[in-house]
Amino acid sequence: MKYRIFTLLALLSFYASFAQDSLMFRKISNEIMVHANCYNDLRVLCKTVGHRISGSPSAAKAVEWGEKAMKAAGAEKVWLQACDVPYWYRGKENLDLLFGGKYVHVDALSLGNSEGSGGKTIEAPIIMVQNFDEFNALPEAAVKGKIVFFNYRFRQDFIFTFEGYGDAVKYRGGSPTVAAQKGAVGVIIRSMSTGEDDFPHTGGTHYKDSVKKIPAMALGNKTADKLEQACRKGQVKARLTSECHMMPKMVRSYSVIGEIKGTETPERIITIGGHLDSWDVGEGAHDDGAGCVQSIEVIRAIKALGIRPKCTIRAVLFMNEENGQKGGQAYADSAIARHENHVIAIETDAGGFSPRGIGLVMSKEQKEHLAQYTHLFLPYGVYDFSREEGGSDISPIHDKLKVPLAGLMPDAQRYFDIHHTNNDIFENVNHRELKLGAVVLTQFIWLVSEHGLN
Ligand SMILES: [Zn+2]
Repeated sequence: MKYRIFTLLALLSFYASFAQDSLMFRKISNEIMVHANCYNDLRVLCKTVGHRISGSPSAAKAVEWGEKAMKAAGAEKVWLQACDVPYWYRGKENLDLLFGGKYVHVDALSLGNSEGSGGKTIEAPIIMVQNFDEFNALPEAAVKGKIVFFNYRFRQDFIFTFEGYGDAVKYRGGSPTVAAQKGAVGVIIRSMSTGEDDFPHTGGTHYKDSVKKIPAMALGNKTADKLEQACRKGQVKARLTSECHMMPKMVRSYSVIGEIKGTETPERIITIGGHLDSWDVGEGAHDDGAGCVQSIEVIRAIKALGIRPKCTIRAVLFMNEENGQKGGQAYADSAIARHENHVIAIETDAGGFSPRGIGLVMSKEQKEHLAQYTHLFLPYGVYDFSREEGGSDISPIHDKLKVPLAGLMPDAQRYFDIHHTNNDIFENVNHRELKLGAVVLTQFIWLVSEHGLN
């Protein structure tokens, strides 16, 4: 009997604690859905700073914006963490394709980090391949002096679009090197895009040191379709001019950090972050202005609700995710130098869409511990905790210090229509979806601060 009463009491207190958690979840949600400032922050970032590639004057402006926004949100301490970043400069660019005996200008974007034609015009026949296997089977003589069109399509059969991106992105990263090795003078790729439109997508590429750095441009899907048809009919030529290049010197830049000190265990740190830099097109709204303003919103909501978290909460706007991860590396190096104790690092860098899951990179025991609480997220549309997803800015702290990671996973069906294009603008972010992401991040952070990971 005694044992039964004890079990009953234990069960009751267990459920009482869940009831309290679910009440706090509701409070956080109400605060953010009604009073959030993240949508307004995003408007200011997108419309007064705009796109902000690492090392550029607008990235410096974004740092100033971030510092101000973090202070306005009520962070108790705000500081800048230095890192030296590469600065890739696009300049002017043009691509004409010879369709039916006539040169036509088409929309195209040079790939990030690529070296252009030095402003000169390269005119050459195009040779089309569908994938690397087809390219590898070509003799050098068939490639030499040509512009290679890699026509690999983003696979539509992956429901989790990040898998489709992972599958296709090797063509953005690897095409210039393999083409140069066989003497090609340039590369054109079909964008890594799920879109049924014509926006070209930029994004980082790289060259092997041993090869000539040939120009590389991306086409939107519609133009790529046209080029594919023309190539099937006969010979197509291109006229390519571009000025893009990597600046010779690294530029001093900064990540922006805002902090709320923990009450019971202030030495234990929970990091939430997104990246402040973007590619030099559009406004970097989904990628990753959304993640920055959500991270700032976490701070604002905690202060507004008067929550005194057990652990220290740190929001970080990382610099240089897109082409170097120097901000993420500096953050990990500083954590090592200061002997910091990090409980978990969380990233939001998958677009400002409705949250659907939280990726977890941690031990089986830690995942099992969190599994007790995952039902609390169901009323907020979040059900998927099965994926090993963190984020690239927080991966250095995981690699170097074994810090567990989490990554917000929104509904990413439209993310790869927009990602790295001129269409990644404020108007394409929905205020409710953006706020819901901030709600779920704040709930998750509160939960880990309160109950730990084991
Ligand atoms: Zn991003």
